[in-house]
This record gives sequence, structure tokens and C-alpha cells, in this order.
Amino acid sequence: MKKQGFETRVLHTSYEREDVYGALAMPVYNTAAYEFETAEAMEAAFCGRTADHAYSRITNPTVQHFENCIRSVTGALGVTALNSGMAAISNALITVAYAGSNVVTSSHLFGNTYSFLKNTLAAFGVECRCCDLTNMDEVRAQVDEHTCALFLEVITNPQLEVADLKKLAAIAHEKGVPLIADTTVVPFHVFQADKFGVDIEIVSSTKYISGGATSIGGLIVDYGSFDWSRSQKLAGMSRDFGKAAFATKLRKEIHRNLGAYMTPQVAYMQTLGLETMEVRYARQAGSCLQLARGLQDLDGIESVNYTGLESNPFYLISKEQFGSLPGAMLTFDLASREDCFRFMNRLKLIRRATNLFDNKTLAIHPASTIYGSFSPEQRLSMDVSDKTIRLSVGLECPDDLLEDIKQALG
Ligand SMILES: *Cc1c(COP(=O)(O)O)cnc(C)c1O
Repeated sequence: MKKQGFETRVLHTSYEREDVYGALAMPVYNTAAYEFETAEAMEAAFCGRTADHAYSRITNPTVQHFENCIRSVTGALGVTALNSGMAAISNALITVAYAGSNVVTSSHLFGNTYSFLKNTLAAFGVECRCCDLTNMDEVRAQVDEHTCALFLEVITNPQLEVADLKKLAAIAHEKGVPLIADTTVVPFHVFQADKFGVDIEIVSSTKYISGGATSIGGLIVDYGSFDWSRSQKLAGMSRDFGKAAFATKLRKEIHRNLGAYMTPQVAYMQTLGLETMEVRYARQAGSCLQLARGLQDLDGIESVNYTGLESNPFYLISKEQFGSLPGAMLTFDLASREDCFRFMNRLKLIRRATNLFDNKTLAIHPASTIYGSFSPEQRLSMDVSDKTIRLSVGLECPDDLLEDIKQALG
């Protein structure tokens, strides 16, 4: 049979076990623990010989169904759902990192990810090496035998820098290093991470997937593409588990010990959100491109940044990797920080809030908020400008959004 389209597969992943009442939507199993008929069955489950659920910090039927839906639409080997995007990032990196290892990345990172690498992991002896990921010689020079991961965001926020993934994956794989990519800003149907050499994909499902910003969640999507025998930490696991070495280390140890599994209520909402993601995305990203074009002509706006604009320096690589609608987020620069605050305060329809890909359009001044606790020098080194406004484009009529922006510019 011909492989069904994303829109179809996203709706029709069957349950592991038939629901006793034939429920059409996956029920929410709000339970901490599961009962066993016998001590033998209990032993078998706890020792991993059967796949029965034992405790909801480790597995839960509703969360597992959500994980299976993601597996079905991505074709991944293993998917783990966690209770935030940050939990997905920290669980994934802790699975590969060890004292004395280093993570090669860029300073163009989501604020908490940067802090996690620079402060949290660094305190355990894991070095964070920031370099320019658009400069292949620099990347090659930073990767050594103790590099446990090349980590990056596929379109950085708020700089909107696009990495050339095939080139970076080639460097990483040549040196025996997995490529771990945060792909939160482009959904699965727009960007197929494994086709571009990504081994482990990280997604904040709080964003596109949750559907109307209902809940916080994160995903670790493991394509089973990396040869873990080349990893210092996982080579031993690789002898026993092969391609599943990372998945096994994560599921049998790291995620149980860190205790940040997704909760069933969130999995229910995000399964529902996933069903409509493709339709919402088409509208939101389409409006984003329309707005990016419209904003270029407005007085008071110095520059507009969206990689779907032909004038953007990353246009070609963005188009190759993400197609003609690369996300529903854009940024623009005004003349000064004061102008940005004035603009924010005059907005009437667009909401002042953080988050991305809510159904409502959201505006934020990143320098004073997400990066507010960083020093001016750090912000400079991260290319986070005081003059930038970030817009996450929602489902409203784009003409209404443009009107609001025009009146707020004054
Ligand atoms: C929001 C976001 C995160 C963090 O996700 P949470 O669900 O808020 O923990 C990580 N990376 C990117 C690119 C994000 O936009």
C-alpha cells in the first residue's frame, strides 16, 4: 500500500491495546501505578521481560500512545515524551555527556538551553564550546575525541540563523559524534530531520504540537541512525543494544532517574493538538510570510528577518531544508529599545507574551525578557539586539494583524 500522507497518519495511530469501551479518543489514564495478577507477572514487568506498565514516572498508556503517534509520523526508532522542551534537552544531553566531555554548539541558543549548557552541565565537568556553526572550519577545529554531541537549533531564535545540516552532519559523523538538533521552530511535516543527518531530534511540544498553547511538553525523537559504538559513553551499551543504545540508556536509566516524564493529561491534549497541526501551520506560516513582506514597506521598521524572504541571507539553505514556509515566527528591528517598548505598549490585538505558535499572535522584546538576566556583553555575543521585536504569528486574519502593527508603530 502507498505510504499514507502526514495528515492521515497523524489521525490514525492505533492503540497498543484495544480500549475496553472502544473509546475513539485515547482515554486519559490518570493513575500512578498498575496492578498485577501475580508476583511472577510483576517480576517479569519490573525486569523488562514484558512491556506491562508498572509506574507512571516510567511509562503510561496515554503518554505511550502520544509517543507512538510521533513515531508513526516521523518513522523514528524511539520517542520519549517529557514534561517540557527543557526536560527533553537536558535528558538527551545527559544521556551522552560525561565529566571531561564537551558539547560543541553555538551561542545562538534558546536562553535556558544556553544556561543549561554553560551553568548546569558545566558544573559537572562538561565543557560547552560555542562556535560559529556557519563556519565549517571552526566547527571542525572544535570537535575532538571527547566531544559527546554537536548540538544546535535548526533556525536560531531570535537571530534566525540557519545551519547547513548536511555539512554539519558530515563533520560530526566523520568524527564519530551524534548530531542533536532542536527543531522546535519547524514541524515534522515541513522538516524531516533524519533526511538531513540529524540523529536525535528535540522538540518543545509546547509550541506547534500542543495546539493553542494548552500545555508544556517535550520530545526526544531518536532516529536510530547513529553508530553508538563510536561514543565513549555508550560504546558498551552499543555492544548489547546496537542502534538502540541511546534509547536504552535514556529509557532504562536517565529518564527514570531525572523523573520528568510527560503526564497523561498533557499527552491527551498534545495528541489532539498534533491532529490539527498541519492545518494550523499552513495558516500561521502563510500569514507569517505575508506579514514579513508587508512589514518591509512600513515606516519605522528598519529591517525584517524571516528566512522565507528572498532577500534573507539564509533563504536558499532555508528553502532546501524547510521549504517555502520556514516557520511562523519573524523578527523586526525598530530604531531603538525605547521604540520597541512604545510599540509593545501600543499593541491592541497582538498579545504581549512569550511562547511560540499559540493560536493567538504574540509579541515579545527578547533582549529585556528571555535574555533579560544576561549581561549586555553576553547579549552582544549572542547577537540578541535591544532593537528587535519577535512575533509569533497566530490564526487571526493577517490584515487585522498588519493593521495592529501599523497603528502601534504610530
Ligand atoms: C520553547 C523552546 C524550548 C523550551 O521548551 P519548553 O517546553 O518551554 O521547556 C527549547 N527550544 C526552543 C527553540 C524553544 O522555542
